[in-house]
Amino acid sequence: MKISVIGTGYVGLVTGTCLAETGNEVLCVDIDENKVKKLQKGEVPIYEPHLDVLFERNIKANRLNFTTSLKEGLEHGDIIFLALPTPEDEDGSADLKYVLGVSDDIGKLIESYKVIVDKSTVPVGTADKVKEVISKNAKVDFDIVSNPEFLREGFAVDDFLKPERIVIGSSSERATELMMKLYKPFVRSGNPIIVMDEKSAELTKYAANAFLATKITFMNEIANFCEIVGADVDKVRAGMGTDSRIGKRFLFPGIGYGGSCFPKDVKALYKSGKDSNYDFGILNAVIKVNDFQKKILIPRIKAFFNNDLKGKTFAIWGLAFKPETDDIREAPALYIINELLQLGASIKAFDPEAMPNVKKEFGDKVEYTLNKDDATISADALIICTEWSMFRTPNFEKLRSNLKHPVIFDGRNLYDLEEIKSEGFYYSSIGRKTVE
Ligand code: NAD
Repeated sequence: MKISVIGTGYVGLVTGTCLAETGNEVLCVDIDENKVKKLQKGEVPIYEPHLDVLFERNIKANRLNFTTSLKEGLEHGDIIFLALPTPEDEDGSADLKYVLGVSDDIGKLIESYKVIVDKSTVPVGTADKVKEVISKNAKVDFDIVSNPEFLREGFAVDDFLKPERIVIGSSSERATELMMKLYKPFVRSGNPIIVMDEKSAELTKYAANAFLATKITFMNEIANFCEIVGADVDKVRAGMGTDSRIGKRFLFPGIGYGGSCFPKDVKALYKSGKDSNYDFGILNAVIKVNDFQKKILIPRIKAFFNNDLKGKTFAIWGLAFKPETDDIREAPALYIINELLQLGASIKAFDPEAMPNVKKEFGDKVEYTLNKDDATISADALIICTEWSMFRTPNFEKLRSNLKHPVIFDGRNLYDLEEIKSEGFYYSSIGRKTVE
C-alpha cells in the first residue's frame, strides 16, 4: 500500500519505518528541513532501540523516503497518517494548531480519495473538527480515522510491530477495511483490532494514559505515607501487586511521571472535562500530587546540607524522563536541576543518551561528563533521577571515594537497603527507611 506519514517525531518515524517493514511504500513528511536532510542521509535523529536497523533496511529497499513537501506526501499516499505534535496549550488543553493547520492544507491539496488517519493524541471531537476543516476546500471524497498510538518510547519498535491492541475509530466501512488490511501483519499472534466510533477511540487514548498516570501517582502517595508510618513500599508493592486485579506493573514509586505524554494528556483530559462541565476530581489530584512528587527530593537535600546549597556540587545520574530514551520532555531531572541551580549549587550530570537534549536547554549551566563515575568526582552527593540499567550495580567503593560525602538521594529506589547500609552510605529513597 502507499502510505504517507506527516510528522517524523517519535511516533511518525516509528510508524513510517514499521509500515515500510511490512512492504508498504512509505513517504514521510516533516516541516523541519534539518531533520528531513538528516533522514534523507540515512541518519536517525532520535534514540529509539532497534529503530536504526529497520530504518536502514527499508531505506535501502527504497520503501522509506522523506520530504518536506506536504503536496508530494499527499500525492503519494492513499492513507495519510497525522503524527503531529499536540502540546499543552496555556490553559492545559491540547493545542490543535498543528493538526488543524495541516488538515486545512490537506483540504486544499488532495486530488483523489484519501483516508486521513489521526495518530496524534487529540481530544474527543477532533475527528469531527478535522473533517470540517478539510471539507471546507476538498473537491474529492475522503474519510477520517482516529487511530491512537499506544507505543512506549524505549520500546516503540516492538510495541508497533507487536501491539497489544490496535484501536480504529471510524464511521466509514471503506476506511476501516483499508486500515484492517494495513494492520493485519501486526496482529498475527491474535491480538485484537478494536473497531469503534471516532469519539470513543479518541477518549480511549486519554483514558489509558490518565489511568496509568493515576496508578503511578497512587503508588507515590502510598510511598510517601510509608515513610511517615515506617512501612516499606517495596514490601507493600509486592503484597499488592500479586493480586491479579491490581497487577505488578506500574507500581514502582519514584519522583513522579514525566515525558511527552502523561503530563500533557492528564491535563488535556481534565480540561476537556471542564469544557463539558465535568470536574475530573481524580485527575486534579493526580496533577497536584505529581507536581509535588517531582520535587520531593529537594527539601531532603536541603535539610541534609543545613539549608545551604551554595557552592555545593551534585552529581546527577539520569536526565531522560525514563530509561531507554533521549526524550527529556517534562523529565523530573530538569525540575531538580533547575531548583538546585537556583539555590546556588552546581551540577555534574551524566545520562547515556539524553545529554545533548539537556545541553540545548541548560547550555553550560550544567557540566556534562563522559561517564557516570566522572560525574561523582568531588561531588557533595549523588542524585539518581532515571533508572538506566547501568546505574543498578555501581562500584560502591569507587563511588565512596569519588564523592566528598557518601550520600545518595535515589529517586528511583535502585539499591537494596541492607547492601547500601553495609557499603556505608547515607541513602534516602522513596517510600523506604532512610539509611543513615
Ligand atoms: P514529536 O514532537 O516527536 O514529533 C512531531 C513532528 O511533527 C516533529 O518532527 C515536527 O517537526 C513535525 N511537524 C510539526 N508541524 C508539522 C507540519 N506542519 N508538517 C509536517 N511536520 C510537522 O511528537 P511525538 O512524540 O511523535 O508525538 C506526536 C503525537 O503522538 C502527539 O500527539 C503525542 O501525544 C502522540 N503520542 C506520542 C507518543 C510518544 O511516546 N512520544 C506515544 C503515543 C502518542
